[in-house]
Amino acid sequence: MLIGQEIAIVGAGIGGLAMSIALAQRGASVRVFEQADAISEVGAGLQISPNGLAVLRALGVDLAHGVRSGAVRLLDGLSGREILHLDLLRHAPDQAFQLWHRADLIETLAARAAELGVEVALSRAVVAAHQSHGGITLEFGDGGSEELALLIGADGLHSKLRGLLNPGQAAPFFTGHVAWRALISGAGLAHPAQAQVHMGPKRHVVTYPLRGGELINIVGVVEAADWAEEGWHHAGDPLEMQREFAGFAPGLRGLLGRVETVNRWGLFRHPVAANWHLAGAAALLGDAAHPTLPFMAQGANMALEDAWVLGECLAQRGATEALEAYQIKRRARCVRIVEAANRNASAYHLSGPARGPALAAMRLGGQIAPKAPLKRFDWIYRYDVTT
Ligand code: FAD
Repeated sequence: MLIGQEIAIVGAGIGGLAMSIALAQRGASVRVFEQADAISEVGAGLQISPNGLAVLRALGVDLAHGVRSGAVRLLDGLSGREILHLDLLRHAPDQAFQLWHRADLIETLAARAAELGVEVALSRAVVAAHQSHGGITLEFGDGGSEELALLIGADGLHSKLRGLLNPGQAAPFFTGHVAWRALISGAGLAHPAQAQVHMGPKRHVVTYPLRGGELINIVGVVEAADWAEEGWHHAGDPLEMQREFAGFAPGLRGLLGRVETVNRWGLFRHPVAANWHLAGAAALLGDAAHPTLPFMAQGANMALEDAWVLGECLAQRGATEALEAYQIKRRARCVRIVEAANRNASAYHLSGPARGPALAAMRLGGQIAPKAPLKRFDWIYRYDVTT
């Protein structure tokens, strides 16, 4: 147990809040420093798979806002024809996949953290961090500073803590993919509770409903030579998004025609951090340790797994040993998932003369062995860090 032990976290995102709960459940006194003025999230969706859901359950988080997903369907985006139907209810009835609005998940995690006495300090942007005699010293944008004996960096893709633990790490590079994301009203659309992947040459779109169909989440990815900035918040042009997918089937074009505001950004590949801990005083988790492309929908799920494992390690051992054990338990698995996500982009973007035969083969494979495509990922989904 961690009764009374003071532990600080940077970042009140999915990973940071989950970490705060895991530590508070074990008796620690937890403070979270968050740069934003309010706990909030961008309007977008998240698929939480059984491995992440196991952690949410163990954290005592209310799952009422998650909607169970019935399937993942791969479609030929040009014709709208079904290629593969991963029937989650029939082929994995014992496992739930959920569709969440990100804001709902963040609010639910924040409510659980508050219940356990976690203190979240808002408007506290960390601008620098260095190792000091008593642990790690943080400097804040408001001019203040604090020395912390044990600090966890859950500060996301552009982590400040990551550089401290990994000086000279390789720079991220543009993958040649530009992503679009939008939310539309689901009124009158009756999108089934499933994720649909509309695959086209050098591009794909994923759609799924949120809040029981009130909204539809749309993420499109296009291969592009031109560079776009990394980050969630860059505004795009809905007409340009529609042009990118103009060759797609009418059903999808109808959804894109309803988009009023859209964000567009470049996807970058970052190396998985080599060092996840420093001197028994600091550790990284979530995107700060292992940013991933979104093509396996595992970034948040991995952050949840990290939080649980790090909480367990700290409760069972002294800090130095605990942080070492945490990296050993987590890094290889996260590298494997990140690599699977890197590969998935090309599977969705088949083009040229090989496209037709490849889709036909995929379709036939799904008819002959409908459980097989899901089984291939048992190593991700059936992995339960809480048992
Ligand atoms: P974040 O959620 O980024 O949180 C970091 C927090 O730290 C933020 O609150 C930020 O404000 C704060 N912060 C940052 N810097 C500082 C600082 N200097 N000082 C103080 N605070 C700071 N994952 C899934 O599992 N399923 C999906 O379906 C899925 N879909 C995705 C779709 C897209 C298009 C994308 C781009 C990603 C998707 N992901 C998905 C990935 C997922 O969003 C991330 O992996 C996840 O949010 C990472 O959580 P985190 O807590 O590590 O970081």
